Amino acid sequence: MNCEETTKLMDGYLDGELDPITSQAIEQHLRECHNCDQAYKTQRSLICAIGNATPYYKAPSELRERIQSSLRKETTEHPLRNGVRGAQVQFHKRQPEPRSILSEIPWNWLGLAAAIILAAIIVSNVLPRLQRPGNDQFLATQLIAGHVRSLMANHLTDVASSDQHTVKPWLDAKLDFAPAVVDLSNEGFPLIGGRLDYLDNRAVAALIYQRRKHFINLFVWPAAPDETRTPKTITRQGYQLLHWVESDLNYWAVSDINEKELQEFKQLFEEQSVPH
Ligand SMILES: [Zn+2]
Repeated sequence: MNCEETTKLMDGYLDGELDPITSQAIEQHLRECHNCDQAYKTQRSLICAIGNATPYYKAPSELRERIQSSLRKETTEHPLRNGVRGAQVQFHKRQPEPRSILSEIPWNWLGLAAAIILAAIIVSNVLPRLQRPGNDQFLATQLIAGHVRSLMANHLTDVASSDQHTVKPWLDAKLDFAPAVVDLSNEGFPLIGGRLDYLDNRAVAALIYQRRKHFINLFVWPAAPDETRTPKTITRQGYQLLHWVESDLNYWAVSDINEKELQEFKQLFEEQSVPH
């Protein structure tokens, strides 16, 4: 991946639209190339700034009333045919002041047209970026990349143990939060170990479970206060992602096992991790 390719793919990367391998190649390039990394950070913070800080102004009710009454007035006093079309007719008759085509269109029709154009610009340019499930999709890409990376790079675990009493203290010592760790061997999801990972701009815990020949990365980190508490399922590129929040911790399970099995895993994990 060179600078040119990175630049070309940057939008897709920011929007979380790239496959994990490409995303990983970009991440690699960003680590090595200061210029592209700077460009990436600038764009990312711009997107965040737009998403978080776009002011929302509610028009005062007097303004609404004024617009409505002037529109009502306009349609009774100057119906459209006397306005726009009348102006055109006069224009063709070579009136002394041909610029009257603009001056005779009632100002509020122009204002209305301007508002419609402005709205169209906002809808076509700004909204897609705001409404794009941006953060989620971006995070999903990061999660899948983290999962794929752990399987590719022969770095599935930092601490390889099926003993939750080994994995938990190891993670607790390295993180500023204490994720629940349970072994689900008896239920067919043996604990393989734990790992530190870096996601969503912070260090996170990854618990690794096995299901037959497949692996589940369960990423855990503290939930933001405004985190949606509703469990969420995302299917992308053949991977299942399952999100839930428990005891103010974010849980994201990522695997290529089917959704039903991953749901089963989630349920077992929750049953056993909640203190009785
Ligand atoms: Zn570069």
